[in-house]
Amino acid sequence: MSHSNKPGDSAGAISDVAAPKTIPARASTRDSRRTTDAQPGLSGLADGVLEKWLGETGQPAFRAQQIRDSIWRHNAGTPGELRGLPGDIRAAVAAAFRVDTIDEDEVTVSDGGLTEKTLHRLSDGALVESVLMHYPARGFGGPGRPLHRERHTLCISSQAGCAVGCPFCATGELGFGRDLETAEIVDQVRHAARRLATAGHVLTNVVFMGMGEPLLNLDRVLDAVAILSDPRLFALGARHVVVSTSGVVPGIRRLTALGAQFTLAISLHAARDPLRDVLVPLNRRWPVAEVVAAARDHAYATGRRVSYEYVMISGVNDTEADADALARLLHGDLAHVNLIPMNPVAHTPWQASSPERVAQFAARVRHGGIGVTVRANRGQDAGAACGQLAADRAGEPSAPAVAHRREVIVRASEAALRGERSIERLPGPLEAAVKERAAHAGGPDRR
Ligand code: SF4
Repeated sequence: MSHSNKPGDSAGAISDVAAPKTIPARASTRDSRRTTDAQPGLSGLADGVLEKWLGETGQPAFRAQQIRDSIWRHNAGTPGELRGLPGDIRAAVAAAFRVDTIDEDEVTVSDGGLTEKTLHRLSDGALVESVLMHYPARGFGGPGRPLHRERHTLCISSQAGCAVGCPFCATGELGFGRDLETAEIVDQVRHAARRLATAGHVLTNVVFMGMGEPLLNLDRVLDAVAILSDPRLFALGARHVVVSTSGVVPGIRRLTALGAQFTLAISLHAARDPLRDVLVPLNRRWPVAEVVAAARDHAYATGRRVSYEYVMISGVNDTEADADALARLLHGDLAHVNLIPMNPVAHTPWQASSPERVAQFAARVRHGGIGVTVRANRGQDAGAACGQLAADRAGEPSAPAVAHRREVIVRASEAALRGERSIERLPGPLEAAVKERAAHAGGPDRR
């Protein structure tokens, strides 16, 4: 799930206090049968797939390590960059697998170079986005030792489009396209790492808050996290990864059962059901109390603080009553709230809360005993709202369609503010996605 209106950095405060830790390769959930891709990406392959393929094509098994070294140590992006392979084997590898699953990148730089938003074109033409955010070292911790080290955080997509349909989100407006393959998720990271390497930097954090609801593509998201955390592959500590969800309760329960060591983020956006039914339509399937109960169990089972994302929308979810409801909801929990001013998107009539309102809201929630961070919005001059660039490519909806959509949103939010719960069913595509996927979220049985 994107959480949407891009957070300034949802991983920041968490990764600052957490010790780097990698999960052992053995804990991987990767399953070679999971891909349906006729020409899978090399970066998403499960253990043993390359060895099996080499055996079937009469090649020695040691070539597998050469190929992995090219992908992970040298970040190969083309067949020509597969090192140490004779030409015929290189050609055979390139015919059976994709060295890179992303065909083209369009990078937009903003915030004086601190934010790079990339529109990735995948091989079937699908468009997904990632955002790379740079955080220079700051503070003084002693000679040559900054208090906060330099960080480079990448926000990635797990699906092309999204079925959840949050009305403040440009991706939600696009609708659902398809799940990303594991390699398509991982290659967004490899692309960012390549760009960083040219400037002598390394990627420090990955957050699954781009396009899509990660827990509705959970098997592949887990595979991608396992690859990114594997010390033999990308070697990013699991504690430097954040996976967010708009509230797929069976998926959260599955993460808890697995003892996942990455940070769980809940895209909450409202603490009261009537309003959350409107802002996060998945709430009509799993109401806020169920979502928070699952997140609470997760926090206590893993010892990992849960992060709650809250997009601040002027006059809609930023009232004193909302702040009090939020403080009550999370009281006593291992939880932290990130407040993110909304990025304006074309189809909604809403605007971001003012900085003063955000500060008052934060103070009130803190007074209720909950830790709060106000996140700066990144990339406002570069289509910062999640899915904004892809939506621009998809073409503007007609003016009457936008006007109608705005009217519906206003009516629904006004009713919600009066405390009336939505009697609307889940939107059709979301209902289908929930039926098809969430039912399987309890176990790795989707092949
Ligand atoms: S519509 Fe999807 S991508 Fe957008 S905020 Fe909601 S869950 Fe995230």
